[in-house]
Amino acid sequence: MDYNNNVGIDLHIHSTASDGTLTPFEILNIAQKLNLGAISITDHDTIDGSKEALRIGMPSPLRFLTGVEISVSSPQPLLYSESIHILGYSINLDDPILNHTLEVLQEARKNRNPQILERLNNLGIDITFNDILKEAGDGQVGRPHIAQSMVNKGFVKSIDEAFINYLGKGKPAYVDKFRVDCSKAIKIILDSGGFPVLAHPILIKTKNDNILEDLVVTLKTMGLKGIEVYYPQHSPDNIAYYTKLAKRYGLLMTGGTDFHGSLKPDIKIGLGNGDFFVPYELYEKLVKRWKK
Ligand code: AMP
Ligand code: ZN
Ligand code: FE
Ligand code: FE
Repeated sequence: MDYNNNVGIDLHIHSTASDGTLTPFEILNIAQKLNLGAISITDHDTIDGSKEALRIGMPSPLRFLTGVEISVSSPQPLLYSESIHILGYSINLDDPILNHTLEVLQEARKNRNPQILERLNNLGIDITFNDILKEAGDGQVGRPHIAQSMVNKGFVKSIDEAFINYLGKGKPAYVDKFRVDCSKAIKIILDSGGFPVLAHPILIKTKNDNILEDLVVTLKTMGLKGIEVYYPQHSPDNIAYYTKLAKRYGLLMTGGTDFHGSLKPDIKIGLGNGDFFVPYELYEKLVKRWKK
């Protein structure tokens, strides 16, 4: 394709299948209007968003990678405490083991949500499961839906406040999520024909900077193929560092906004906070290397 350097991509988008507020159809339309070159729908613990996008079909000339985002347990809990998320791209959506694993994760979410609600209710925050379902619709329920219900009912002023005071890790209504082992998540993605990528390294809380490199090395031995170098919260220094890590360990580089619609109101598809840009060239490199 004769794309110049102005064409961007967005390989990290949540839809209504999880905790995004736009449907796959709406996402495809926006991507087309923005003239994005390629996107991926990467919902938490479900591939229904990607399935729906493929069913609808790509508006030309937009390219699409199937995707998913899986929260995994840390290989060494004392060193890396939070938010180790593995993105799986170009996965076969009909893979039985992938589908089964996602069903287990979805079931675990169903057990977790009433526990979070019970904690909130005990704290005097009167939210019901129906309130949350109004936010989540048919999609997988996530904490952002609970946070939105809390805003709607006037218990907090913003989603951020709900996380800071109640739902975030270590806060009074926090309930940990069942996570699959990182090696298992990586293997499932590889076995389904996809490539596993470490999401938003900036969000992984480590004791110090050097530890991230150890994590990358550990995950690489498990089969990791890429690192999400471009992310709205990554500073130019972060991007330079993650690029260096990707080159040092022969990992593919990806990037995306982590768009969630109105649940993350500052982040727009393809544009992040406004000046975010991931070049199409990166998508071409991914496809080229992955086909080999
Ligand atoms: P869950 O999968 O239910 O644990 O929810 C995870 C989602 O919550 C992620 O997609 C994040 O976007 C969102 N999230 C996590 N921490 C925060 C926070 N401190 N403020 C706002 N959103 C958050
Ligand atoms: Zn989310
Ligand atoms: Fe994530
Ligand atoms: Fe995400």
